[in-house]
Amino acid sequence: MGRLQAMRLALVLGLAFALGLASAATAPDGSHIGYMWPVGLVSGALIITPRRMVPYVAALVPLLAFATFLIAAYPVGVAAGYGTTIAVEALVARQVLTAGRSRWHLLETNDFGRYLLACALAALTGAIGFGITSAATGFGVAWEVAVATFVTHLASEMMLLALFRAPIGPQVGYGNTERILAWSATIGVTVLAFTTTQVPSLVFLVIPPLGWVAFRAPMREALYQLVTVGIISSTLSNEGVGPFSDPYLMRLNPEFQHMPQQAFLLSCAMVTIPFSMAVAMQRRSADQAMRERARSERLVQSARGIAIIGTDELGRINLFSPAAESILGYTKEEVYGHSTRMFHTDAELARQARTLGVDPTYVSVVRAAGQLPPGTPIDWQFVRKDGIARTLSTILSPITDDLGRFAGYVATGDDITDRIEAQVALEKALATERRAVKRLTEVDQVKDAFISSVSHELRTPITNIVGYLELLLDGVYGEPTQAQAEPMTRIDQNSRRLLTLIDDLLTLSSLEHVDQRRRTGDVDLVEVISRAMEVVRPTLLRRVLVLDIDIPADPVVVVGDASELERLVINLATNAVKFTPDGGRIVVRLTPPGSDHGPVIEVEDTGIGIPAEDSAQLFSRFYRSDDAHTSAVPGSGLGLSIAKAIADLHGGDISAHSVYGEGSTFRVVLPRTSRQPVAVS
Ligand code: ADP
Repeated sequence: MGRLQAMRLALVLGLAFALGLASAATAPDGSHIGYMWPVGLVSGALIITPRRMVPYVAALVPLLAFATFLIAAYPVGVAAGYGTTIAVEALVARQVLTAGRSRWHLLETNDFGRYLLACALAALTGAIGFGITSAATGFGVAWEVAVATFVTHLASEMMLLALFRAPIGPQVGYGNTERILAWSATIGVTVLAFTTTQVPSLVFLVIPPLGWVAFRAPMREALYQLVTVGIISSTLSNEGVGPFSDPYLMRLNPEFQHMPQQAFLLSCAMVTIPFSMAVAMQRRSADQAMRERARSERLVQSARGIAIIGTDELGRINLFSPAAESILGYTKEEVYGHSTRMFHTDAELARQARTLGVDPTYVSVVRAAGQLPPGTPIDWQFVRKDGIARTLSTILSPITDDLGRFAGYVATGDDITDRIEAQVALEKALATERRAVKRLTEVDQVKDAFISSVSHELRTPITNIVGYLELLLDGVYGEPTQAQAEPMTRIDQNSRRLLTLIDDLLTLSSLEHVDQRRRTGDVDLVEVISRAMEVVRPTLLRRVLVLDIDIPADPVVVVGDASELERLVINLATNAVKFTPDGGRIVVRLTPPGSDHGPVIEVEDTGIGIPAEDSAQLFSRFYRSDDAHTSAVPGSGLGLSIAKAIADLHGGDISAHSVYGEGSTFRVVLPRTSRQPVAVS
């Protein structure tokens, strides 16, 4: 427990002790209880005691109370009974107020209900305890003591306990002048009402000043005034002054003489406490509403890029955010009070009506849009002040007032004009590209058809030329002279190269545009490689190269076209021979299918290799490396394209791995059970 807390507690208990003494000392003759003012203070002391200290304070209270009663000359037994009762009563009050929560407050309507219950149960506990004490000690008449105790203690608890939790908060507009006036009024009126004994009913005059402070002042101040009224009225009544010292009352049982005055104080408490609570509650919710409003206002003002437009229940604009101003080009002064209809053309209205399936009137379109599931955006075309149309992705939400009545709409709009324009442009560009691709494909097909038909047309005359040259060179038309034979040999060589090129072109064309049923069946790759190597072998005649053929003894069967596969091997092996200088080594290898691959054909050489930057286009038509050109290695640049087309048709995969200057390996992996080559037409 902090020092301040301990001091506060000591102060409250000390005050209770002093007031208890005063109360007991001034008890009317023949009464067996005092006015018991301080019992509410004792409950309050336990309320402000931290939970873990409660047992100690609760043990201290009976001792203090016992001492008080002894000093006031009560019999020992009575002092002990009353003292214990007061401690139990305070514990009951504390328990009811704090049950199920760490701290109790007088903030909400429910809090007051609990407060009443706590005071009533505490007073009842007091009544029972005092009654039992009275019966046990023969100190007064037990039931009379009990009834008198209940009323006195209830008044005390009600007036004092609230002080320990009443909000202190400043009250707007309640200044010192008003404070002085209010206090003067309360004190003045109370004194007046209690000194004019002849007119008892004047005590009701105390209610208006108490109502005034409850309405205007902080709650705690209203409670202080209530206590002040209690002190003045009790003191004066004790002094035999005021309406509650009426001679008629004085003839009553002394135990009950003070009860009308206690009832009066209870009434004052029952007016002041709930009234000032209601005022505080109302003020809090007004504050909260104001804070909420300020927050929304800040949100509206700070939302950049999103237009926020609000209307009242008649559709007149009453909110137009800065973003709305910049997107639509109007200032809020220009649009306030107008309908949002001003932003839309008739055509746009008709379009929205069609989309939403309602009459083309503005009211029905807005209503339908407002009834869409919350958060559903609709694209609305807005016309700016300068006449330019903008498209806003808009969410329209109906708003209601505190009573749940329809109070207008708020629309948030995101300007998506640029996005839509970009999208349209993108779609256009895509369409253009698609058209271009289609056109290029057509051109490509025409070109292929052209190449193929030209090749066909050229093949016959060139074959003819080669044939006649052979006859000429063989001397069928007379032995050529040395001078004639040389150019004729050149013509023959070049014609044959031309013929090879034409054959390659025709082969590629037939592979790419397969239009006849293909011969397929089981093919033994061992045989394929052997036959291909027979074709290649003559090119090795004048060369110094080591050729290794590494093939398994058993057949390796795939489904496919034997002559095409043979061609594939020939092309790869011929390249290896062409691009490997003398002294090199060539390996042609066939690996049977394994657990993770189908049959693999590899052609490996120790030749010139392929520059890394060229590997991407290696299998493109007519690609030849610079080395091939400069070293005048003959070739058309079609061999690898043909090899790839054949591998593709067999569902296989061809790849090249090469280190420039060191050699190359071409690798063809065929499917394990080579699929039926598909005839593409
Ligand atoms: P061609 O051999 O008729 O020139 P290809 O399509 O068979 O046409 O080969 C294309 C090019 O790829 C060759 O010109 C050559 O530059 C390169 N090339 C192919 N095979 C090899 C190889 N084994 N070693 C080095 N370069 C090769």
